[in-house]
Amino acid sequence: MKELICIVCPRGCILKVDAQKNVTGNLCSRGIDYAIQETTNPVRNLTTSIKVRNRPHTYVSVKTSAPVPKNKLLPMMEIINGLTVAAPTTIGQIVKANIMDLNINVIITKKID
Ligand code: SF4
Repeated sequence: MKELICIVCPRGCILKVDAQKNVTGNLCSRGIDYAIQETTNPVRNLTTSIKVRNRPHTYVSVKTSAPVPKNKLLPMMEIINGLTVAAPTTIGQIVKANIMDLNINVIITKKID
């Protein structure tokens, strides 16, 4: 039996998942989806920032276009840490397509003129 806190909404239900993947403690069905995902293939959204190479001391925020498997987060961060972009930037601009062959893009989340 695994116990975890649902982070899908602020209620924070305490979920229990047994070996057969039966979920209890959820107040809505989203908790079931979360518990199954979290106990089989946990994923996280990755947000960080990268250097703007033509603007001294400037960074721009980026995020992944989809949640990333937890065991890929650290190697992915190492790749993203090496990325740079030139201003101007636009929201949604792809700075790295199909990172780690996961069909996930790294996209810019801030406009810099
Ligand atoms: S189970 Fe439903 S109500 Fe409870 S925290 Fe998760 S999303 Fe919110």
